[in-house]
Amino acid sequence: QAKREERNAVRFHAPVAGAAARRQRVLATELRRALRRDEFQLVYQPSVDLRHGRIGAAEALLRWRHPERGEVLPGEFIPQAERTGLIREIDAWVLERACRQLRAWIDAGLPALRMAVNVSARSLAHPQFLAGLRENLTAHRVPAGRLLLEITEGAILRLGEDVRRTLHTLHELGVGVAIDDFGTGYSSLSYLKLPAIVGVKVDRSFVAGLPDSASDAAIVEAILALAARLGLYTIAEGIEHEAQHAFLLRAGCAEGQGYLYARAVSPDAFERWLRRPGEAPFRLHRVSP
Ligand code: C2E
Ligand code: MG
Ligand code: MG
Ligand code: MG
Repeated sequence: QAKREERNAVRFHAPVAGAAARRQRVLATELRRALRRDEFQLVYQPSVDLRHGRIGAAEALLRWRHPERGEVLPGEFIPQAERTGLIREIDAWVLERACRQLRAWIDAGLPALRMAVNVSARSLAHPQFLAGLRENLTAHRVPAGRLLLEITEGAILRLGEDVRRTLHTLHELGVGVAIDDFGTGYSSLSYLKLPAIVGVKVDRSFVAGLPDSASDAAIVEAILALAARLGLYTIAEGIEHEAQHAFLLRAGCAEGQGYLYARAVSPDAFERWLRRPGEAPFRLHRVSP
């Protein structure tokens, strides 16, 4: 009986797996084409100083303008790009664009801000990563301290000694690294001692339960206390409500990011906020509660 079920299961699943594999191959081909045909673009989401509402950083977020499907979000293609190794080319493209944008904003005399760029584990581990980064810093005359790389805990966990060396060099270069989605990985906390790590981004799954969930409140407070003791900068992501903002401000979080303040927007729209802060949507949240 068990044997027959097994066989049936195989027969039932095989075509499904085949179709999924085919879809993945199509996606990989489309991603390669997207790079060639310039179908990617960057949008920018601010993180704001929780006390005053000033823009602290712009996070570059990738968008794919698919010729048939319209705008595709990274959740739908980054995992596949990571599996196929294409993520390296994509992340390199993003880094170049983001550095170029930062230079343009500096040249335009706009208020100083940091540029945050997401980097996948596989990109960070690649031997050419640092060379590409240095090239960008030089070509676009980007002050290293203005660039912030966001990596997940998984990136550090998976990759041993090579990443350790990369992080060390980043520190020497003066490029900061923030741990993205902090608290959702499986790693130990020991990497927080690495000098390259300058900040943590509290994952939005913990922010979501604030202020009512006692466990989310406890976790967020513990993260903020730990970060403060270690001298790390804190940003909370996914802030959608005033009450979350108020909790985080009171708990000592430095910056916040989320739909309460602003969604990711085109570079032009972002630049307008930099030029005329009074017209930015997050001015409404300036007053501390
Ligand atoms: P992330 O780095 O944690 O980025 C935050 C994500 O949360 C963004 O989604 C952003 O639009 C979304 N978000 C911001 N505020 C709110 C909010 O208040 N509520 C909710 N529900 N969501 C909010 P997005 O742009 O779809 O990016 C998803 C993930 O894709 C990013 O997570 C990042 O891990 C990855 N990603 C995006 N761009 C790149 C890239 O250039 N390279 C790499 N390697 N990964 C990227
Ligand atoms: Mg991020
Ligand atoms: Mg994040
Ligand atoms: Mg997150």
